[in-house]
Amino acid sequence: MFNTLSDRLAQTFKNLRTKGRLSEADIDATIREIRRALLDADVAVPVVREFTGQVRERALSAEVSGALNPAQQVVKIVNEELVGVLGGQTRTLRFAKTAPTVIMLAGLQGAGKTTFAGKLGHWLKEQGHTPLLVAADLQRPNAVTQLSVVAERAGVPVFAPHPGNQSGADAEYGPVIGDPVAVARDGVETARQRQHDVVIIDTAGRLGVDELLMRQAADIRDATQPDEVLFVIDAMIGQDAVATAKAFEEGVDFTGVVLSKLDGDARGGAALSVTGVTGRPILFASTGEKLTDLEVFHPDRMASRILDMGDVLTLIEQAEKAFDAEQAAQMAAKVESGQDFTLADFLVQMQQLRNMGSMKKMLGMLPGMGQMRDAIENFDEREVDRIEAIVRSMTPAERENPKIINGSRRARIARGSGSTTTDVNQLLERFENAQKMMRQVARGGGVPGMPGMGG
Ligand code: GDP
Repeated sequence: MFNTLSDRLAQTFKNLRTKGRLSEADIDATIREIRRALLDADVAVPVVREFTGQVRERALSAEVSGALNPAQQVVKIVNEELVGVLGGQTRTLRFAKTAPTVIMLAGLQGAGKTTFAGKLGHWLKEQGHTPLLVAADLQRPNAVTQLSVVAERAGVPVFAPHPGNQSGADAEYGPVIGDPVAVARDGVETARQRQHDVVIIDTAGRLGVDELLMRQAADIRDATQPDEVLFVIDAMIGQDAVATAKAFEEGVDFTGVVLSKLDGDARGGAALSVTGVTGRPILFASTGEKLTDLEVFHPDRMASRILDMGDVLTLIEQAEKAFDAEQAAQMAAKVESGQDFTLADFLVQMQQLRNMGSMKKMLGMLPGMGQMRDAIENFDEREVDRIEAIVRSMTPAERENPKIINGSRRARIARGSGSTTTDVNQLLERFENAQKMMRQVARGGGVPGMPGMGG
């Protein structure tokens, strides 16, 4: 799930990262790529429009232009907006004040309702609840049997009419009739008598949305007054997701969404559209055929997964903490005005880098760092100490204008910092490169971010 979308977005951000400052044209090009990636992933058009509109507005604001690393800031905005599209806060199941809590499932046939009923029963049981499953899907010949099988596997009791016996009697719970509304009502009543604290009602689905189905679901809802109506939707159905969700919203209404088959290789559009279109939160994701393939849905974690972000957010937070905003602003102003980046600035940046803690750990948080693993492994953190010692052994005049550092000055600096003249030469060379890079950035092209990190 989401692989193609993830790859496309990653490529977009990679293109963006090669830029220092971002022009409006850069941002628009990025937005265009994001829009195309989302549409190709089957995300609903209105959702895409709203999303890209928000990202564009924020990306063009001071939030980005004033940021130390504009490209990262844009990624951060995309992430935040994505969390929003996925529902923002994690929404957990709501339980009734007086038991039993009634949870009704609705959705098309094959959406994964019965499978989810079993998983939810199992999940609730593990949380210490005493759920009862109610088989109110009397449409499909073997639906009742299927729920009974799932229930047994989950170790959860089931309230069901005997299959093939329309006015049959349930072995455990007494007589029921072949009317799904009555089955549902009796199921809830039975749960109350037997002190089950949660009732999960499985209802019938049709292959397509139809009026009879909606009316039956609405009748079951009215008869049982559920605390939660969960709309189960197959994440693989792509563009149809929106129309289906809308139809169920109008026909039965629902309080939350369950995404099923999230383990498939669908493009993910349904997942990204359904909350945006209906305003209802996603509560669970069903990710396989096993009883335990169920996840509580966390919008923030899902967004990170889609963006393949590793722990970039933590990284950005640390960077924000470590970099003194005022100093960074001064530095940016200096570079923009065409003034040269000096060794004194270089030293300040080194210290800021040190504030960020272990360099290795920091680099390790970046996603897609596979190819750079060797470089990371070989990075010597003491390097920062050596650089600092050398710069500190220079006079203020030398720091301002390294060109005056001739052979005898180099030897003095080496002695003063406990290093060799080769070390001093290397540092000066690296600094010169960093300075060149900064000039390039000031001209509006070139390399972003933190000079001095090269080496
Ligand atoms: P219902 O008609 O809505 O009750 O749907 P079912 O629960 O019978 O599911 C329809 C089919 O989808 C069955 O073959 C299930 O095994 C399968 N299924 C349900 N949930 C998932 C899931 O999360 N992942 C996968 N891979 N298959 C699922």
